[in-house]
Parts: sequence; structure tokens; C-alpha cells
Amino acid sequence: MPSERDVLAPYGEHLRRAQKMELVSNLAAGVSHHFNNLLMGILTASRLAARSLDEGHPALPYLAEIAAASDRGADLTRRLAALGRPATEHARPMRVGDVLDSARDVLRALLGENVRLEVAIEAPDALLLADPDQLQQALVNLSLNAAEAMADGGVIALSARTVHLPKDSGALLPGMAAGPYVELVVRDTGRGMDTQTRARVFEPFFTTKGGGTGLGLYIVYGIVRALQGRIDVDSDLGHGTTVRILLPVHHPVEPTGAAEPRKPRILVVEDERLIRVTLRHTLALHGFEVHIAADATEARELFDALGDVDLVLSDMVLPGKNGSELARELSALRPGLRVLFMSAYSRELLLQQGRITPSQRTLEKPFSEETLMMAVSELLGVEPKPRS
Ligand code: ADP
Ligand code: MG
Repeated sequence: MPSERDVLAPYGEHLRRAQKMELVSNLAAGVSHHFNNLLMGILTASRLAARSLDEGHPALPYLAEIAAASDRGADLTRRLAALGRPATEHARPMRVGDVLDSARDVLRALLGENVRLEVAIEAPDALLLADPDQLQQALVNLSLNAAEAMADGGVIALSARTVHLPKDSGALLPGMAAGPYVELVVRDTGRGMDTQTRARVFEPFFTTKGGGTGLGLYIVYGIVRALQGRIDVDSDLGHGTTVRILLPVHHPVEPTGAAEPRKPRILVVEDERLIRVTLRHTLALHGFEVHIAADATEARELFDALGDVDLVLSDMVLPGKNGSELARELSALRPGLRVLFMSAYSRELLLQQGRITPSQRTLEKPFSEETLMMAVSELLGVEPKPRS
């Protein structure tokens, strides 16, 4: 078993690691962003090209190939970026007891018979503000590593308790506030790690296993840091491994009259998944709250559920109801609603066909991030903000 000494890495070491990981995920996010913009261009251009060809033209299948390949590329980059910096938009308050219960259910099904799972929950009612799927994934990744380190069987002990980190605590990393934390520990009786391995476990693609991806702990690291927590590994060869996660306890706040001004809320309606996802990513980086819908029906549902939307950014051609019909419907519900249309057709054509009126704003696809931000900021009457 690992020694009982404090497993928290010293501040300096942790900070260096945090900076290194920050760099990696910045890089992944940056590359993914540029790449997605590029792919949006490729996709739109191939679609436009396909449209200008007669049915049965021999180039059509190739254009479809181009579109499919860029779609796959976008999916890949998006997933890579999401690994290092998981979105916390699906975060909700949840009980620690429920988190561990659902992880236990999944693990029972995954772990072999020679691995015993022990779960000890001291603070089942403490609340965390997190995406339940992400937390479950973190616990599952850690437990699978533990199981893989115990080929001959052993014990995985999952535990949860609350700890208080005072202002002067050395455990507080930048961005972590003093106060109560939930401490989640995954401990195994496996083969442990040597010093060199332990120093690199959080790096993406670092693996000592034949078929390993080296992404398990990288993902967990991203999840924990996105929740303003910390993760530490203590391990010695032959003496098992202890992974300790600290996450801030969530205190639900009573709504007060003077609420903080909320971010401008944008509803994006676009049937092309890639463009939808790219737009969400871009707008969110510029500080907007973004909701996405694939068609008018989904948009209407979201619009009703949200109660308050500042801008609808809608594609013109949609399956079912088109963009202008949707805009009319929503504007009837909320007079004065701001709408921005996007279309691969030219503005002149849309005007000619009577699909838009001269006062309605449009963006011609493909458009650049700058053009988009100019139009959105203008419509919302906010200063264009640099991306964060
Ligand atoms: P993968 O499991 O695909 O190798 P991870 O990021 O999950 O990728 O883990 C990286 C490496 O860290 C593993 O290859 C292994 O060497 C080491 N490791 C992680 N967890 C443990 C553990 N509980 N016991 C021993 N070694 C571990
Ligand atoms: Mg793993």
C-alpha cells in the first residue's frame, strides 16, 4: 500500500505541470479552432460546387467525398480539443453519493472478478457542480488504470470525504479558492509506478501499455482543472497507486434581486452539424452563451425552454420550416427579437425571392470569424470582445 504521507505534490512541481498541461490544451484548442474554420470553408465550397453541377456529373461523388472527409476531420479536432478542455456547460449540482453510485454501477460491469471494488462515502450529501458524465468518466478511467495495474487481482478503493482548505493552504493552486472541497480518492494495490513514469502520467499520449492510448489521465486532468480542482498521484513501484482529486464543494446560492448581468444569449439554428459546432465554439470563445438547434422545431423548443434569447442566428435553408418562417414565428412570440440570417445564397437572391426584407441582416456563407463577430456585436449593441 502507498505510504500515508501527504500525497499532494509540492506547489512548484504542480505549477510547472499545470503550465505544461495548459500549453498542450491551448495548442489543441487553437489548432482545432483554426482547423474547424478551414474545414467550414472546404465544406461550404464543396457544397456550392456540387450545387452548380448538373445531376449525374462525374465530379459529384468526389465532392461528396471531400465533404465527408472534412466532416470527419472536424469531428476529430473537436474531440481532441474537448479532451484537454472539456466543456462545463452541462454542469449541474449533484450529490457526491450519486456520483459514486453511478460510477460503481458502471465499474461492476467492467471490472474482472479478481478485482474487488470497495466504496467508502463519508460525505454523500456534499454537492459538486459538474457534468455527471464527465465525473463518471474520470472515476472510470482511474479505476480501469488501477485494474490494469493488477493483473493478478487486488483491491480498488474508491472513497469520498470533505476537507477544508484554509487560505494559507499549500494545496491551493492558482484559481482555487479557500473553503470546503470534496476529496475523491482512487487507491489500488497494483504494481505502482517508478518515478519517471509518475512524472509523465498526465501527458497526452503517454502510455507504458502496448495497446494504451495514453489519454486516460490526460482526460481526467482536463476534467478536474476545468472544475477548478487539482489531481495528484502518489505511487511507488510495487506499492500500489493513490490518485487524489480535490473539487470545490458547491453551495447553491439563493437567487437575489441584483443578479449579475448575464452573458448575451444566442440561439444558433443550422442543420449542418459542422457549421453548428464551429459557430458554437467561436461564439462561446467571444463570451456569448450559445445554444444550438438543428432545425426550426428544435429551435422553437429551445426558445420556449430558455425563456429569454437575445439573438437568433439562423440558417436560411433548413429541413422543414425555413429560417425566415422560423424568424417570423419567434418574432411573433417576442416582438423586437434580433435575428441574423446566414445563407450560402447571396443577399441579392434572397431579397429578389422575397425571403428577406431589406432591413433584415444576413451573412453570406462562408464568412470569417471577424465578419460574424462584427455583425453579432452590432446587432446586440455590445463591443466586439477579443476571444478569450
Ligand atoms: P493508458 O492507460 O492508455 O496507458 P493513461 O493516461 O490512463 O493511459 O495512463 C498513462 C500511464 O500511467 C499508464 O500507461 C501507466 O503506465 C500509468 N498508470 C496510470 N494509472 C496507473 C495505476 N493505477 N497504476 C500503475 N500505473 C498507472
Ligand atoms: Mg488508462
